[in-house]
Amino acid sequence: METQVAQKKERRNWFRKSSVPTVIGGPCSAETEEQVYETCRAIAQSGKIDILRAGIWKPRTRPGTFEGIGIKGLPWMRKMKEETGLPVTVEVAKAGHVEACLEFDIDILWIGARTSVNPFAVQEIAEAVRGVDIPILVKNPINPDLALWLGAIERFERVGIEKIGAIHRGFSNTSEKVYRNRPQWQLAIDFMTKRPELPMICDPSHICGNRHMLQAVSQKAVDLNYDGLMIESHRDPDNAWSDAKQQITPKVLHDMITDLVARHNHEDNDSTQKSLDFLRQDINEIDTDLINLLGQRMKIARQIGEYKKKNNVTILQQKRWEEIMKKSQEHGQAHGLSEEFISKLLRSIHDESIDQQEKVMNA
Ligand code: PEP
Ligand code: MN
Repeated sequence: METQVAQKKERRNWFRKSSVPTVIGGPCSAETEEQVYETCRAIAQSGKIDILRAGIWKPRTRPGTFEGIGIKGLPWMRKMKEETGLPVTVEVAKAGHVEACLEFDIDILWIGARTSVNPFAVQEIAEAVRGVDIPILVKNPINPDLALWLGAIERFERVGIEKIGAIHRGFSNTSEKVYRNRPQWQLAIDFMTKRPELPMICDPSHICGNRHMLQAVSQKAVDLNYDGLMIESHRDPDNAWSDAKQQITPKVLHDMITDLVARHNHEDNDSTQKSLDFLRQDINEIDTDLINLLGQRMKIARQIGEYKKKNNVTILQQKRWEEIMKKSQEHGQAHGLSEEFISKLLRSIHDESIDQQEKVMNA
């Protein structure tokens, strides 16, 4: 048992070297030779970054945007590796990308969120690294599906990859207002609970989609004992060819990492606290959603008020109200919510709706 635990820790240690998280930094995309060199040199000189990153092939949502410089960028990354002594990592999305990266001595490959969702694509990449000793980092799929994320990891384990890690970059959600990709921390902790031996890296850049929240999200990852951070940095963020809003200069990145408060790792006795923290974060996000939804509901109520005013209809429509109550109680029951609770909740919402309609009708 004890040797098993020790072995598990060791597998995680291939990525994390000390009590501070390992930091991967570099531009979202390699754009030009000068941009890669200037950015990577400044990052390396800061002394705070352990691994250099750049996207060479960019899986973009819509065509017509910059889709990456392609294979031409790989010698630039190799040059930066030789010059700075730092390992370099690149995103691969198909077998051809893997072959090109191996040819140019790329040290670590990562799988993007738009690729992790597709088992055929992941399998193709896995076949391309069969028998090769290269570390692989797997980003969470864009949708919040833990099995899909774990499944992608397993595909690499099955072809013999030994150094594997996960990157948490958040999940796409159309009702999300705060983040570019909602973190849903609980999903990442579920991952860590299932695979505690694998390093977990946080990608605050793609979670936030902006610069001002990067520090807080990075600190949260440190507080939750993540093993690493992947943060996008560009010599001239405003003019970046992709993800301009979330990139920061190497200097800002350096200061951000310096300002992170290191936490001691008492992982075993801390786990209750850690789980609570994840759950509370989810609760906060759900509360925000609830309030947003209530705001939308009241807006519609006011529109109905306008209509009723024009047509001289009474505010209270008894039959409609009874229908809403009945349907909601049935729905609530299916989620383990008591009739009493649903009744109190709906009465309160209905009261506010009536107030708002009344204001509109008697304005
Ligand atoms: C990236 O790291 O630049 C990237 C494309 O990320 P993701 O796959 O998380 O969208
Ligand atoms: Mn990016």
